This record gives sequence, C-alpha cells and structure tokens, in this order.
Amino acid sequence: MQALFTRYLTEKKLRKTEERYAILECICHISGHFDMGLLHRKLEEMNFHVSRATVYNTVDVLVDCGLVVRHQLAAQAVQYELRMLAETHLHLICTKCGEIRELKDAMLKRNVGSLKIPRFTPEYHAFYIYGLCSKCKYRLQRRK
Ligand SMILES: [Zn+2]
Ligand SMILES: [Zn+2]
Repeated sequence: MQALFTRYLTEKKLRKTEERYAILECICHISGHFDMGLLHRKLEEMNFHVSRATVYNTVDVLVDCGLVVRHQLAAQAVQYELRMLAETHLHLICTKCGEIRELKDAMLKRNVGSLKIPRFTPEYHAFYIYGLCSKCKYRLQRRK
C-alpha cells in the first residue's frame, strides 16, 4: 500500500512527507469506518501531532489515489474507509436513524470481479442497502 502511495505521489508531483505516510499507517490500523475527528484522535494517541488541515488534505489525496473510499451517507458526517476493507462487506443503512451495519460477504468481491461490463472499466466498488434497522422497525410497529 505504501508503494502504491509513493507511486501516486511521484506521478502527481506531490511531496512525500512523513505526515502523509503516518496518516496512511494510522488508517491501516483503524479497522472499519472513520471520520476526520476519529482519525485526528488516533493520530494524537500515536503521539503524532498534525494539523487538521493536513489530515483533511492527506485523506483527500488517499481518496484520489484510490486507497481510501469516501462514504457519502446522509444524516452523518462523511465517513471514510480503506478501500480493501470496504469491498468486502455490504453496508446496511437505516433510513430512519442513519445507523450503518456491515455485513461480511466473502462472495462479493469475487462476484463483482467477474462481472463483464461493456464500455466501462471498474476501479472500485462499495455496496449500500437502505432500509430499517431492527430498533427503528420495532419502534414503528409499536406506534401503530
Ligand atoms: Zn464499510
Ligand atoms: Zn434505525
């Protein structure tokens, strides 16, 4: 992953700063979704002090380079996730409360990988299924 990042930075003529690599490293240790606040806290825990602007900027670069996926989900702060991870599960999103649950599915990556799509070159994918979580469903049913 580091090598990929280095290649990208070189291609785009971006500076290969220690901060950028530390942020990537930190993201690799977060298993799951994160937002900017969480990432910043984790970096602080690692005793790595960087400005929020640097964190934002680096995550943008990582998204551009395809290592990190940006989840655009209503009702919540923008969340991010390592692309390698994001491709292995379904995201079940409650339309009432915005809760996100992940459902592992070993077949997903293989099935999508074997899709033949005409006139389109897939780069990465993420899955979202919208519906009601069990809590919200229960609450709705009780109201009736
Ligand atoms: Zn996910
Ligand atoms: Zn819900």
